[in-house]
Amino acid sequence: MDIHSLRKEFPILNIKVNNKILVYLDNGATSQKPQSVIDCINEYYATYNANIHRGVHYLSQFATSAYEEAREKISSYINSPSAKQVIFTKGTTDGINLVANGFSRGFLKEGDEVVISAMEHHSNIVPWQLACEYSGANLKVIPVLDNGELDEIALANVLTDKVKILALTHVSNTLGTINPVKKIIELAHQKGIPVLIDGAQSVQHIKIDVQDLDADFYVFSGHKMFGPTGTGILYGKEEWLLKLPPYQGGGDMIKTVTFEKTTYNDLPHKFEAGTPHIAGGIALGKAVDFLNSLDFDWMHQHENELLQFTQEELKKIEGIRIVGEAKNKSSVVSFVHNQAHHYDVGTILDQMGIAIRTGHHCTEPLMHRMGVSGTARASFAVYNTLEEAEIFVTALKKSLKMLL
Ligand code: PMP
Repeated sequence: MDIHSLRKEFPILNIKVNNKILVYLDNGATSQKPQSVIDCINEYYATYNANIHRGVHYLSQFATSAYEEAREKISSYINSPSAKQVIFTKGTTDGINLVANGFSRGFLKEGDEVVISAMEHHSNIVPWQLACEYSGANLKVIPVLDNGELDEIALANVLTDKVKILALTHVSNTLGTINPVKKIIELAHQKGIPVLIDGAQSVQHIKIDVQDLDADFYVFSGHKMFGPTGTGILYGKEEWLLKLPPYQGGGDMIKTVTFEKTTYNDLPHKFEAGTPHIAGGIALGKAVDFLNSLDFDWMHQHENELLQFTQEELKKIEGIRIVGEAKNKSSVVSFVHNQAHHYDVGTILDQMGIAIRTGHHCTEPLMHRMGVSGTARASFAVYNTLEEAEIFVTALKKSLKMLL
């Protein structure tokens, strides 16, 4: 694959920030969008804007077909057995809340346990805390080792018959750790425990096959996989989606409504109350087209090269500690310096046109575990180049000189 022609698909990569060509290394927060995704949103509003699933007129039917085609594409992308198991959501947070809320209303009771890990994003912690609060269940946490890997021995011990669900991230947004989710799901299933996987940081880097993983639920965000904000997907096994109660009530999710009794719509509509982000959903289909155009083996090798180069260079800088050194790691480099505050580093890098993330990355408990208040994080996407990684390392050295 030719990185330079790939970059041309992303108009924002040519802009200047503080008079410097943008070096965008905050892909963990959100990815940039290819022109095809941007055009798709314009095209919807300019040529076939209409509400879906309810109109007999041409525009409504056209928009409905486009929306449902996008669902089909996403379904194939993750190898879901059917598109009806692919629920459009607002994002990962929304998908996890849907499942946690459903569990708290029908599948959790006092004394039950919910298991998460110490490397979860707040959006895979707080919904479960709420679910435990409503139901009287207890939250258990799988510890993380010093190198940022999951403590698999502790994991096996925590999966007792009290556990009603395990919710785990596939890839850590802060550490980059890639968890061996297939193996973990198998272990959980041996004990009859369903598993939700947070795929917010995986779908854009790793080919996901929900059937091969045997995940009960797999959730992700559109905006981190080159699609629009306000979009996301919840995949669920049909048996679970049939069992779970609806999350929100309203239009589209019903079959019939009377004041005495309402019956719910079939999947996937049962979980899609109200007018959705129609343009966003269709454009998410375009993002999947973009992902399908990539050679994943090449992408993996390329992103790994950026990761290895950056980590090696950072390790040579005195005072820097890389937070998260799992053997199997995604292209995320979190680091701290023993004298320079990550916030100051990020601010100076911004002056040089380089966008990185600083802070706790919505993983405060993980920050406590790793003994830091926050980190600076460079996260790479497929369109980043080795030259950008070099610019980043040089700028970082310069910023440290200015700060110390
Ligand atoms: N989980 C992980 C691992 C994430 O990285 C993020 C986003 N940073 C989320 C969940 C939440 O995603 P969203 O804000 O798109 O709902």
